[in-house]
Amino acid sequence: MQGNDHLETRCLHFGEEQEHPYGAVVPPIVQTSLFTFPDLDSFFNRALLDPERYYYTRMDNPTLNMVERKVAHLEGAEQALCFSSGMAAISAAILSCLRAGDHVIALRTSYPPVLEFLQDYLQRFRIGVTLVEGVEVAEFEQAMQPHTRLFYLESPSSLVFRLQDLEAVAQLAKRHGILTICDNSWATPIFQNPLSYGIDLVVHSASKYLGGHSDLLGGIVVGSRADWMERVHRERTLLGSILDPFAAWLLLRGLRTLPIRMERHHRNGLQLAAFLAAHPAVARVHHPGLPTHPQHELARRQLRGYSGLFSLELHETEDTRVKRFVNALRLFRIGVSWGGYESLITAFPIERLDEQHSRWLIRLHVGLENAEDLIQDLQQALEQAEMSS
Ligand SMILES: *Cc1c(COP(=O)(O)O)cnc(C)c1O
Repeated sequence: MQGNDHLETRCLHFGEEQEHPYGAVVPPIVQTSLFTFPDLDSFFNRALLDPERYYYTRMDNPTLNMVERKVAHLEGAEQALCFSSGMAAISAAILSCLRAGDHVIALRTSYPPVLEFLQDYLQRFRIGVTLVEGVEVAEFEQAMQPHTRLFYLESPSSLVFRLQDLEAVAQLAKRHGILTICDNSWATPIFQNPLSYGIDLVVHSASKYLGGHSDLLGGIVVGSRADWMERVHRERTLLGSILDPFAAWLLLRGLRTLPIRMERHHRNGLQLAAFLAAHPAVARVHHPGLPTHPQHELARRQLRGYSGLFSLELHETEDTRVKRFVNALRLFRIGVSWGGYESLITAFPIERLDEQHSRWLIRLHVGLENAEDLIQDLQQALEQAEMSS
């Protein structure tokens, strides 16, 4: 496809220029573990004869390659690599940057399994970690140590939706020879391209919006430095954490509708956030698209849109009432994860006040349903929990 095509067009066609067998419109799933050669000479000289030649699916596979070319293009990068989950992608990206004794600065609000990996698992390799809120660039500067090798970012973070100023943090990192990784699962390449702000590697949980149908697990690492992506590729090959071809094919299907889905998540999310922000039962809404968000100006500058995931706090602190509200919802199903077609809710007590009272953080994923239906569902559940006045 031509480089001047618009995003929607590129999501559909980029990386799939080849004619498929039988003229099939959808590419085949190359569900094979290995690739064979016509004779021993071509087997031994495969790299010379054709550097693109496939060998073994733990290293590379044509179905994955189609996804990788598409995502790299959408992120404005040279290269992307698919992994078996978001955590597989994130751990490989982090490992590609670190050696024993290094120091990492991450966010207090990072995705919890990432914090466990950094603080607990990597402690075995004497990796030190300092956590910051990440709202001010100065926090990173103050937390820096002589062996600081990596800033691990997630903007916005996926619990309270705090942002980092990606351009300013990347500039600080570059001045000190520090690498930067940013989790872009929330915004997707449709709404944000961290590489364009100078970030070194972007990671995605493809299990969220990129897949978009809640039927696959996957992850992606994106970057432009060939030497660095070679290291990430080596992590993937040695740890054996490559994506399965069938999951890659499902992911390719998901990517085709990414722009149109994100447009709807953006619209529905803002509509529901505005409804909740105006509701007397709601104490706070954490959504970077609301003018009341403390970093709204930065959000407008850094993001082209907002996805469907945000959180809120209720005035109600009585556990049984909060549970009654959540259980009374019909369209929002209770469950972790997000980014699929469906609306979801989870609730976490963030502060225990006494035996029966907690302050609760409620996280909503606003799906592709009709926004009026979703608002009505919230309204009836708030009424059932007697929180409507
Ligand atoms: C889910 C998630 C991940 C991990 O992805 P998996 O595919 O579940 O391994 C990483 N980062 C964020 C922000 C997530 O929400």
